[in-house]
Amino acid sequence: MQAGNGDPGENRGAERKPRQRSRRRELFCPAHPEQKLLGNGKKYFLHLLTSEQLKQRGMPDGKARLVINAFPVLVLSNEWIEELFCADCGSSHWCHVVRLDSVNHTVRWAPRDLWQQVAHVDPVGGNPSVSQFTARQARRHSRKRSDGKSWFG
Ligand SMILES: [Zn+2]
Repeated sequence: MQAGNGDPGENRGAERKPRQRSRRRELFCPAHPEQKLLGNGKKYFLHLLTSEQLKQRGMPDGKARLVINAFPVLVLSNEWIEELFCADCGSSHWCHVVRLDSVNHTVRWAPRDLWQQVAHVDPVGGNPSVSQFTARQARRHSRKRSDGKSWFG
């Protein structure tokens, strides 16, 4: 089946004014824009498996193919799934977080099919140990390349 929910290019739309009061990261509930989310910091980083997925993130076609050829499983360092608690919601949600800078992040509810990009972890009681190992391996490679420069900037 296809993971076909695409709003290509819409992701970086909302430019919040960066408030430089604190250096701590700020995550806001998609349903309650004023409410900060709390997480335990456990991140499930996303893997990109196809050049399509890179193109959706603004990479030119040719480059996307090169990158996927070089890194069949590219781990994004600035996108992950994290369980976050919102006091207004009164519950935790799995969220798709995109890091914009050290403070600002884009948060949305993680669609279930996004978990397909977190190696083979099942959100319901899955054991992430295997995938964490894989992620570490893959990150080691991608870090070499993305040193200093971001793919998507
Ligand atoms: Zn909320």
